Amino acid sequence: KSGDMSQGVLRVARHPFRTDNNGQTAGFVWTVRDITQQKLADQMRNQFVYSATHELRTPLANIKAYAETLARSEAMDVEKQKEFCNIINSEANRLARFIDDLLTISRMEAGALLLERHETDLERILEETVEKCRAQMDQKRVTFQAELPPKLPELHLDKDKFVVVLVNLIGNAAKYPPEGGKVTVQVEARDGQIQIHVIDTGIGISVEDLPRVFDKFFRSTDPRVQEQTGSGLGLSLAAEIVRLHGGRITVHSEINKGTKFTVVLPTQ
Ligand code: ADP
Repeated sequence: KSGDMSQGVLRVARHPFRTDNNGQTAGFVWTVRDITQQKLADQMRNQFVYSATHELRTPLANIKAYAETLARSEAMDVEKQKEFCNIINSEANRLARFIDDLLTISRMEAGALLLERHETDLERILEETVEKCRAQMDQKRVTFQAELPPKLPELHLDKDKFVVVLVNLIGNAAKYPPEGGKVTVQVEARDGQIQIHVIDTGIGISVEDLPRVFDKFFRSTDPRVQEQTGSGLGLSLAAEIVRLHGGRITVHSEINKGTKFTVVLPTQ
């Protein structure tokens, strides 16, 4: 199959190695080089450029269309004008957020982003996160429930970045399920670890999609995902931040049943 590199990619070349007195080639040296890694890197770069331009183009096209309509129409009522300005503004925000996420990811991957860890109260972080997701949850009439143990171990986290992790997980849990779903956050502390589970009653993730959800730009082709806006960067950013904290994120999901993301952090 074209483009399938699972078997590896080899570059085979033939070089003439000796000529006799008549300038005739007496034989050939064949070289075989494994260039799978190089090809994979090329493919990833192409995919990145494709996804990033797509993600930049959509809001830009919207901004342009609404701004042009505003400029052209003379008899538009003030309410309509306001509505168009709001759309332009929210599309510009979407662009800005996308660029911020992209920059944060690339800084992290380059090892240039350091954590500022302080003793942090997980309960407070959760409250802050829920506040940020409140509008989204209200819009989908999602009920939220937090189950925390009475006493939590001390955690040293980069608060702002950790809020980004939870906003992405809880935001997705509110965004993808149909209206009237339920989002539960369960926190467990044992064996020198803290586990934060974010559980939803939503659309679930298919077996084929599951290994790819942390990939940069990955978005499922499921129409229920496509009808929501998103860049496919949230989970890769979350995974990178958790990794920098010495932890990991795992996911369990069943299509049409629901999804559970778990953040595991060492507490020592
Ligand atoms: P985005 O939400 O911007 O698409 P993410 O990186 O946050 O990007 O998520 C990547 C993909 O993983 C989503 O597009 C969706 O296909 C899937 N996904 C993530 N969270 C959930 C969830 N709670 N339920 C179902 N699918 C999810």
